[in-house]
Amino acid sequence: MTDCLFCKIIAGDIPAKVVRETDRTLAFRDINPQAPTHVLVIPKGHHRDVAALAATDAELLAALLLEAHEVAAAEGVAETGYRVVFNTGPQAGQTVFHVHAHVLGGRDLRWPPG
Ligand code: 5GP
Ligand code: ZN
Repeated sequence: MTDCLFCKIIAGDIPAKVVRETDRTLAFRDINPQAPTHVLVIPKGHHRDVAALAATDAELLAALLLEAHEVAAAEGVAETGYRVVFNTGPQAGQTVFHVHAHVLGGRDLRWPPG
């Protein structure tokens, strides 16, 4: 998708602080971090949200979640705890319509979220 921000990051047209990369996924630091660890994990293929990804390629969604755990481990928060969030739709605060898992950790995370 030529006008998708995250597709541009995958293409290298917009710089990002890459944390991990696989053949099918990219993990990079959120530009506006909400916790000491705040990494976005995305598939390299374009899907607008997690529901679309689940319907199209459930195996890739599983790979994305495994990769989220690898990011948490690399960041040293796998044991202390972390949260994986898929904001889905405008009322949930989704602003970029290329599916992304937020991996948040490194501080106490309130529940329920705001
Ligand atoms: P959403 O609100 O769609 O769940 O999450 C989008 C996330 O992308 C936000 O947390 C926002 O800070 C992050 N973001 C927006 N633009 C950029 C960018 O250009 N680079 C990076 N690394 N993150 C971005
Ligand atoms: Zn995209």
